[in-house]
Amino acid sequence: MTEKDQEVVVLRLGHRPSRDKRVSTHLLLAARTFGAKNAYYTGTQDPFLEESIRKITADWGGDFTLEYAGGWKNVFADWKGKIVHLTMYGLPYQDVVDDIRSDPSPKLVVVGGAKVPGEVYGAADWNVAVTGQPHSEVSALALFLHELYQGSELKREFSGARLTVVPQANGKKLKTASRRV
Ligand code: SAM
Repeated sequence: MTEKDQEVVVLRLGHRPSRDKRVSTHLLLAARTFGAKNAYYTGTQDPFLEESIRKITADWGGDFTLEYAGGWKNVFADWKGKIVHLTMYGLPYQDVVDDIRSDPSPKLVVVGGAKVPGEVYGAADWNVAVTGQPHSEVSALALFLHELYQGSELKREFSGARLTVVPQANGKKLKTASRRV
């Protein structure tokens, strides 16, 4: 199962530029790297966040995009697929991930910020816990996508990359393409 067999779009709720700049950036980088097609965010619109994700994709390839959505209700209403909400209060992901994977419809994976409105729990098809302990939206999303895609996301190729790492046991080596193709 790869990201081509099961489309994932991430929705980050309640972004606050002053407090969440780094964590939202890291969440979106994890989404892009581990197989999500694109992402939406709600909260306060943040041109710096949008630009930093655009730059990463321009350099490192693929066609991941980030879009501001005024409110989660509109995104839910327009979504043609199923909704997975990551929350420590949900069902253990190891118990539900097979059901989620075997459902072929696209998945909107919702991750919270400071406070998730109670209605989100009722509107989701699955409320999924990556353990019942509080940690972070970044770790929850990364583990969930890893389990969903069963490791195939680690071998993803990012087309049109300007920069590619050449793996080495020691040191850093980058291959640079002159321009994005
Ligand atoms: N009390 C929150 C909750 O419902 O999971 C923790 C808030 S945490 C700062 C922000 C987001 O990280 C949550 O909305 C959720 O998406 C994600 N998260 C944190 N711990 C999680 C866990 N154990 N399982 C799934 N998601 C988690």
